[in-house]
Amino acid sequence: VAAAATAEERAFEAGLRPRTLAEFVGQRKAREQLSIMLAGARGRGRPPDHVLLSGPPGLGKTSLAMIIAQELAVPLRLTSGPAIERAGDLVAILTALAPGEVLFIDEIHRIARPAEELLYSAMEDFRVDVVLGKGPGATAIPLDVAPFTLVGATTRAGLLTGPMRDRFGFTAHLDFYDPDELVAVLARSARLLGVELTPEGATEVAGRSRGTPRIANRLLRRVRDYAEVRADGVVTLDVAHAALRVYDVDPLGLDRLDRAVLTALVKRFGGGPVGLTTLAVSVGEEPETVEDVAEPFLLRAGLLVRTSRGRVATPAAFTHLGFDPPDQELG
Ligand code: ATP
Repeated sequence: VAAAATAEERAFEAGLRPRTLAEFVGQRKAREQLSIMLAGARGRGRPPDHVLLSGPPGLGKTSLAMIIAQELAVPLRLTSGPAIERAGDLVAILTALAPGEVLFIDEIHRIARPAEELLYSAMEDFRVDVVLGKGPGATAIPLDVAPFTLVGATTRAGLLTGPMRDRFGFTAHLDFYDPDELVAVLARSARLLGVELTPEGATEVAGRSRGTPRIANRLLRRVRDYAEVRADGVVTLDVAHAALRVYDVDPLGLDRLDRAVLTALVKRFGGGPVGLTTLAVSVGEEPETVEDVAEPFLLRAGLLVRTSRGRVATPAAFTHLGFDPPDQELG
C-alpha cells in the first residue's frame, strides 16, 4: 500500500521524526490530551494508562509512540501484531520488559487470538499465565510482568475486539493534516535536510501530500532531487510544480490505490453504488485495506460517498479522472 513505508524510507524518516510533543506538528487535541496524561504520570512516578492510536498510515502513530517513551524517559520496545503469532512470542516480549518501559505494538488488530487473550491480563494485572501441557494435566504458571505502558496502533479502532479496546485508558484518533500543517512539516524537514524551500514551493508540495506527513516528506525528496539536477537547488513553486509533473504525482495527492479504487468505481461500475467487497475484489485488495487505507482520504477529498446501497463516486471524481459526470442524482 502506497502510504506504507519501505525499509529505505524508514531509515530516511528516522532522521525526520519529531522527538518531542512540542516538535510534533498538528493533531492539537491528541497532543494536548497526551501531554496532560504524561505529566500526570510523571508526577505520580507511575506508568500512564495504555494508549491506543488509530488512524490511516503515515500520520505519525509510530512517532507518537516514540515521543511517549522519550517524554517519560523510559526505553521503547517496538513490535507489530503480525509478528506475534503465538502466545509464546508475546510472553517472551512481556517478561523481558524493563519497569516502566513503553511497548509499541503496530497493527495491534492483527495480533493472533491466543496472544491477545494473554495481553489482556498483562495489561490489567501485569501478570501472565503460561499454560504448560494440555488437557486435565495442564498447569498454569503465573509470571509477573514489570509495570509497562502499551501503545497500540491500528488503522481503525473498530477493528479491535471489545475487550481489547476496553483495556486502553486513552484513545487518540489521528486525522489527516491540513495543508498549512503539512507546510509546517515540510518546512521542518527541509531545515533538517538542508533544502531551500520557498513558502510557495512548500504549499504546492503540501497540496499534493494526501494529508499525510509521510507522503509530504517523500515528495520533498523528489522535488529536492529535481531542484538539484534541473534547477539551482531552490525548491520554488515552479520547480515543485515541474518536479511533481515529472513524477506523475496526482494533483489532489491520490496514490495508486486511491486511483485504482476510484477508477474502478467510475469506469467499471458507472459510478456506483457498489458494495465494498465487490469494489475491493475488482482492485485485487482486501475490503479492509480499501476501507481503512483508501476510503478515508477519498471521503475527505469529497470524491466518494457511502450510501446505504454502497459506495458512490461524486461528480468531482468523474471530473478528476477526466470523465463527464452522469446527470443522475446521487443515491
Ligand atoms: P505507519 O502506520 O505506516 O507506521 P505512522 O502513522 O506510524 O505510519 P510515522 O512513521 O510516525 O507514521 O510517520 C511517518 C513520517 O512522517 C515520520 O518520519 C515523520 O517524520 C513524519 N511525521 C509524522 N507525523 C508528523 C508530525 N506530526 N510532525 C512532523 N512530522 C511528522
